[in-house]
Amino acid sequence: MTALPTTTFPGVIPVLNPANQEHIGEVPQYERTAVLACVDRALAAQRKWAGTSIHERIRILKNFRRILCDQKDAVADVITREAGKPKSEALATEVMVILDTVGFLCDYAPMFLQPEPVPHSNPIMKLKRGWLLRQPYGVIGIISPWNYPFSVPSVETLSALITGNAVVLKPSEFTPFSALKLQELLFAAGLDHDLFQVITGDGSTGAALLASNIQKIVFTGSVATGKKVAQAAAARLLPVVLELGGKDPMIVLDDADLQVASSAAVWGAFMNAGQTCLSIERCYVHESIYEAFLKACVEKTAKLRVGNGGDTSTDIGPLIHQPQLKIVREHVEDAVANGARLLAGGKTLPELGPNFYAPTVLAGVDHSMRIMREETFGPVLPVRSFKNDEEAVALANDSEFGLAASVWTGNRKRGEQLAARVAAGTVMVNDVIACFGISEAPHGGVKASGIGRTHGKLGLEEMVWPKYVDSDRLPHMKKLWWYGYGPQFLQQMEGFIDFLFSGKMSARLRGGMQSTRAYLRRKLL
Ligand code: NAD
Repeated sequence: MTALPTTTFPGVIPVLNPANQEHIGEVPQYERTAVLACVDRALAAQRKWAGTSIHERIRILKNFRRILCDQKDAVADVITREAGKPKSEALATEVMVILDTVGFLCDYAPMFLQPEPVPHSNPIMKLKRGWLLRQPYGVIGIISPWNYPFSVPSVETLSALITGNAVVLKPSEFTPFSALKLQELLFAAGLDHDLFQVITGDGSTGAALLASNIQKIVFTGSVATGKKVAQAAAARLLPVVLELGGKDPMIVLDDADLQVASSAAVWGAFMNAGQTCLSIERCYVHESIYEAFLKACVEKTAKLRVGNGGDTSTDIGPLIHQPQLKIVREHVEDAVANGARLLAGGKTLPELGPNFYAPTVLAGVDHSMRIMREETFGPVLPVRSFKNDEEAVALANDSEFGLAASVWTGNRKRGEQLAARVAAGTVMVNDVIACFGISEAPHGGVKASGIGRTHGKLGLEEMVWPKYVDSDRLPHMKKLWWYGYGPQFLQQMEGFIDFLFSGKMSARLRGGMQSTRAYLRRKLL
């Protein structure tokens, strides 16, 4: 596979299959001038697109959904080959999520883009009618990571397009072909080519996009790069959405179903080889079930098959590259060196390939260890015990991150009450990660996990700027609060304030009388 360059490029980036280092293809490295040209073309196309009816946009999105459904296998193959994940995960967490997203957008966007009345409560303002318009920004720049190379940029791109924006997408240099596949499908669905441009390249291409004439940036990636993006955006007051890392806690209460919770822990920590922003990165289990929970996790982990994601029997694929593997290895080594018990895994699997790491279960971890503080992003399940709900909440909230969390209990009400106390953008009760597949649910974090939201209504709000329009019902009447001030007017204003807000009925009545005279003012300029 080789992307077709639209202009001359000084360099190319090779793309490798992380499972076996197979050379999949190469993509051009977009440099500053090429990036600027793409954004200019997108801006010109967006002016026309903003004027198309919502029905036309929906028609294209529905075409896209039909083509994506037909080509689901081919799309999953592209994802698996460059990101390494099992093909079943590529289908479930990437293709299916996007098929569902299109349904949500097509159903919801027409209502969302309707002018929204803004009723006025102040009696004097009732002589006007107000409403909110949601205007597209223009060109939305999107910078995306490698771990969900299809679903992450697709949700953002589709949300931007349906609200009338153009998109210039900079995918991860490790997984550009999933984004190029998205582009191919949208073009096949009938989208104007200038409305969605994919600029391949590394961080320098992303930096060039930030310096271009985009009107908003939606960034998904690490905290370290997110800070650079925020700084570049601040310098030119560019609005941002930052979807950053996580260190998601799982809290298993004493009344949780042990078998269900241990299966959830194993899947939630190891799915996509632990390279999910919503992965379980910290697990807290009530002391009364701690040892039994660990035993169940270790037994289940032993049954998992690590291998090439293209093999249908694989449960866990490789890590994306060597730097990621190094972080995982260092976090586990640090934990063990500081007293953690290694119950499973804890080693690389060179016999499978250079990027494989065995699913790992650690017990006896504490918050002084890197494994409990920094994002590991690998197949590691560190488990710690707690004594009571208070301690569980305190441990969960003792983190610089706040993307998502989960609470496991047989008592839903208890779980929901506890969920309200956990500082995270999403808290699931008796499930994990699945929130990403709920198209209506907002996705995003607090603290270092980011700013703003993608997905759902709140994700759509990020793609538009609100314009409030107000129209006076009496165009021939001068407003009572205009010039012509004096002692009389002052008295009338005081009366009006008493009429509206005084706690005393007598003052309200007197104020009402006093202020009515304002309507008879003759000295208005
Ligand atoms: P990364 O920060 O290394 O790279 C993300 C993107 O930024 C890539 O496209 C990269 O080329 C680009 N980039 C790098 N330097 C840049 C610069 N100076 N200016 C502009 N762009 C630049 O992240 P990654 O390793 O690709 O992805 C993994 C991270 O993403 C993890 O931390 C994970 O938690 C996070 N993530 C978060 C979410 C979420 O929704 N919150 C979803 C997926 C991944």
